Amino acid sequence: MTTHHHDPLYRDTPLILSVSGVNKAFDGFKAINDLNFYLEEGELRTVIGPNGAGKSTFMDIITGRTRPDSGSVTMHGNDGHDINLAKLKEFEINRLGIGRKFQTPSVYKSHTVYDNLVLSLNRPRGVLKTLFYKESAEDRDRIMEVLKTIRLESRVNDLAGMLSHGQKQWLEIGMLLSQDPRILLIDEPAAGMSDEETERTGELLLSLEKKHSLIVIEHDMEFIRQIARKVTVLHQGHVLKDGSFDHVKSDPQVIEVYLGRQGKKDENK
Ligand code: ADP
Ligand code: MG
Repeated sequence: MTTHHHDPLYRDTPLILSVSGVNKAFDGFKAINDLNFYLEEGELRTVIGPNGAGKSTFMDIITGRTRPDSGSVTMHGNDGHDINLAKLKEFEINRLGIGRKFQTPSVYKSHTVYDNLVLSLNRPRGVLKTLFYKESAEDRDRIMEVLKTIRLESRVNDLAGMLSHGQKQWLEIGMLLSQDPRILLIDEPAAGMSDEETERTGELLLSLEKKHSLIVIEHDMEFIRQIARKVTVLHQGHVLKDGSFDHVKSDPQVIEVYLGRQGKKDENK
């Protein structure tokens, strides 16, 4: 069992993901620079940082969309085995239980909410095959459980295209959940949402911690405040700081590179 002992916020919880000494350059530009990042089993981690800090590239490296130039990316299996992700293809990493949600929702608009969830079960591949696939009682239970978690039970038979922007985002999170992933990577879930939808999204993400391990990238500081456990600040492809929301928020370097900028942007409004 791999644990992370030096951190007072977390003691003996096993790690699920270790990213160490990772570098990635695009045409000589270091997008990721000696990045070290450790995620605990069941943890909800938020990652913040200015535009261009390398947040999306960081997720690309975990999911196998981008290959690191050097360093290691390891998932720790619950059977004690380590899996080297840097050698695997994107679909292989996904099958190991790492699900990713991109910023824009991509649901099947002309299918019902229920069918979107059926389509995302880890079952026969391909839309046509899935349409003729009769889901088992176990699958239906799983779908109903997911519907409850994303609070869309009352919309089960509605076309996904009829949902609000926020509800589409929840459905897409539900589509990831129906695969029961070990790790969920979520990029800016609250973007474009109303205040009420944002708050419900926060509640949804909080309800997932412990059952899954989550990395959430976000810009909205009110939202971060709502869901913050341990916060990691990325800057120039490197971890600038991590710790509690209050610790990070009051750090002079963080204020300089991130919050300071945000503040200036708000003043210009
Ligand atoms: P963030 O998500 O924090 O805004 P990104 O990870 O998207 O940052 O980008 C980090 C830096 O790497 C940026 O300067 C971006 O232009 C560059 N970058 C990201 N992906 C590529 C790519 N495929 N080719 C060239 N440059 C890239
Ligand atoms: Mg990004």
